[in-house]
Amino acid sequence: MSYRPIYLDSHATTPVDERVMTAMMPYFMEYFGNSGSINHQYGWEAEAGIKQAREQIAAAINATPEEIVFTSGATEANNLAIKGIAEAYFQKGRHIITVQTEHNAVLHTCQYLESLGFEVTYLPVQSDGLVNLQQLDAAFRPDTILVSVMAGNNEIGVLQPIGAIGIMCREREVLFHTDAAQAIGKTPIDVEAMRIDLMSITAHKIYGPKGIGALYVRRRNPRVKLAPQMHGGGQERGMRAGTLFTPQIVGFGKAIELCTELMETESARLLALRERLWRQLSSIDDIYLNGHPTMRVAGNLNVSVAGVDGSALRLGLQSVVALSSGSACSTGKANPSHVLMALGRSEELSRASLRFGIGRFNTEEEIDKIAEATISTINSLRQATIKQPAMI
Ligand SMILES: *Cc1c(COP(=O)(O)O)cnc(C)c1O
Repeated sequence: MSYRPIYLDSHATTPVDERVMTAMMPYFMEYFGNSGSINHQYGWEAEAGIKQAREQIAAAINATPEEIVFTSGATEANNLAIKGIAEAYFQKGRHIITVQTEHNAVLHTCQYLESLGFEVTYLPVQSDGLVNLQQLDAAFRPDTILVSVMAGNNEIGVLQPIGAIGIMCREREVLFHTDAAQAIGKTPIDVEAMRIDLMSITAHKIYGPKGIGALYVRRRNPRVKLAPQMHGGGQERGMRAGTLFTPQIVGFGKAIELCTELMETESARLLALRERLWRQLSSIDDIYLNGHPTMRVAGNLNVSVAGVDGSALRLGLQSVVALSSGSACSTGKANPSHVLMALGRSEELSRASLRFGIGRFNTEEEIDKIAEATISTINSLRQATIKQPAMI
């Protein structure tokens, strides 16, 4: 068996849980029908699987099954939410508020809308990564139609106060969308209590399959209008056309149900692992925690290390542990993380960062091994810098 590094990149993706895989299997070969075939049993079987998944997802977020619109993932859900609202409400106004630390699926969608004549306010964040609610308050305009603030950040794990933001939006009758791809299944989310009108979620970050996600679209108080971005067979109440991918949907339902079941014990376990890792790493000089120390998802630790080159650091670790500097989508690009820069970190510290994403299958032994490797790699890189100043 070939040796593989320890996987510690659960913000990028997660393996499929065996229980999820078991639930999916019959829907590939046996219950293969098209859920849109309403005239025969094959269609009904697929529809039954999808109905159950819709109920499982709705139950996890206190929504109704009709409010779940399946998409290919959170990227598509973000696009559908933001473009769909912009198109449906442009006569009411053309101003959108979002945040500088959002995922590119939100930021680039907003930039695209700017090219069409919409105006977007990109709120800054505080040095702990949290949105300042007074700044949000001041950003509202009479023509604001949408606020989009992520629930959990994909680089630093910071959890925004979405309940408070939801109330602010509702009071002003402005729709509230949240990208909850990193928060779902890890922290309780209640779309009623938090006054969420639209929410993007995805299965592959919660031990479900890739290629499936959903957009929650509120149906009552208020009823959200959404312009479809995919036209065709009229599936998903006309909001997203295309034959539903039954096995993935069934897996998504099972994955989210499992997360709800395991949430309390898992988040305590992940938190203990994170603290164990940080306790060891903080023995190093000039290492900084990025993001709020407690308002973050349990499995996330993001640090910057002074006096080392970021890519040399990751190169030095890659045989031991699989992790990234920032989001999987921007890794490899020369730019420093836009999230860390928004926290006010220097360009050097933004580049010399490590994102540890601890997940369901990581153990204490793995964490200790990773801590040891990280400390020794940093020490040897720093010694090399001292010994060979002319080379740098
Ligand atoms: C992963 C992620 C996405 C993209 O989700 P996909 O399902 O991979 O398209 C969007 N937003 C956040 C915050 C994410 O972490």
